[in-house]
Amino acid sequence: MAENELNAEVVSMTEVAPGLMILRVKPVGWELPDFTPGQFAVLALPGSAPRHPVTDPEETPLPPDKLIKRAYSIASSSRTKEHMELYITLIRSGALTPRLFNLNLGDHLFLAPNIKGAFKLDQAKPGSHIVMFATGTGLAPFMSAIRTTFGSDMARRYVIVHGARHSWDLGYRAELETISSHSANFTYIPVISRPDDEKTGWTGAVGYVQDVWRLDVINAEAGFQPKPDNSSMFICGNPEMTENMVKLLIADGFREHSKKEPGEIFVERYW
Ligand SMILES: Cc1cc2nc3c(=O)[nH]c(=O)nc-3n(C[C@H](O)[C@H](O)[C@H](O)COP(=O)(O)OP(=O)(O)OC[C@H]3O[C@@H](n4cnc5c(N)ncnc54)[C@H](O)[C@@H]3O)c2cc1C
Repeated sequence: MAENELNAEVVSMTEVAPGLMILRVKPVGWELPDFTPGQFAVLALPGSAPRHPVTDPEETPLPPDKLIKRAYSIASSSRTKEHMELYITLIRSGALTPRLFNLNLGDHLFLAPNIKGAFKLDQAKPGSHIVMFATGTGLAPFMSAIRTTFGSDMARRYVIVHGARHSWDLGYRAELETISSHSANFTYIPVISRPDDEKTGWTGAVGYVQDVWRLDVINAEAGFQPKPDNSSMFICGNPEMTENMVKLLIADGFREHSKKEPGEIFVERYW
């Protein structure tokens, strides 16, 4: 495979809400490598690829042949070899996402053949419950974890807290509600920050991901209190949420994990 070849093909694009999509790509003439849930892939398109018409025009055109590369957490199971799934939000002023949102089925793009990332869900302490906090597309690595390991690991409890502005921005809600309704050890807690915009009423949690922690909603919904000695805490999404959640958890006795000093808090920062 030549370096920078557009080596992957779009096999499906699902619009979750305006500016939010689930993208599936498959490698062309090569095999997807192994990866651990939590890790990310690198997608790219050249500067010559057209931008979606509803996005901001570029002030300075990018070099047409240069690939614009960005990281995306993998949402599919690590057992799925036919395609890779990514959950992507459109940044109207951005360089790559306006081009990704302009792709069509069958179009080609670059998918880096090596998968990277130290944010791995298998770092959870053996036997500990897995508590996951996400905003927006920060849910992607947790979808991969649930899809890969949940069914074969019934001894521990899994909790996903997913924050978004509106109910319609809660991608994967139907899949997570279905798992939740069938599994005593899986709890899904969606939380929205703009309930006044809802047309049909919202009966779930309101506010931010951090409020779910502060108000002990996990204890009420999942029936256990996550503590440093029984849970591993995974956080992924926007910087405000990640920083605030880390502070709250540290105040409750959790420690941020590093190679030198093992802890119970694992964080992926998107920007
Ligand atoms: C390890 C890692 C994993 C990532 N996984 C995902 C993912 O699964 N899905 C995804 O949509 N993005 C993800 N990102 C962000 C992604 O790499 C790009 O930064 C993003 O798509 C914007 O690219 P762009 O070229 O369009 O915008 P750029 O021109 O690069 O503008 C970047 C700016 O866009 C904003 N931004 C970036 N990402 C987001 C986001 N997800 N939501 C809201 N605002 C954002 C920030 O203000 C950032 O400074 C990840 C980033 C990292 C480092």
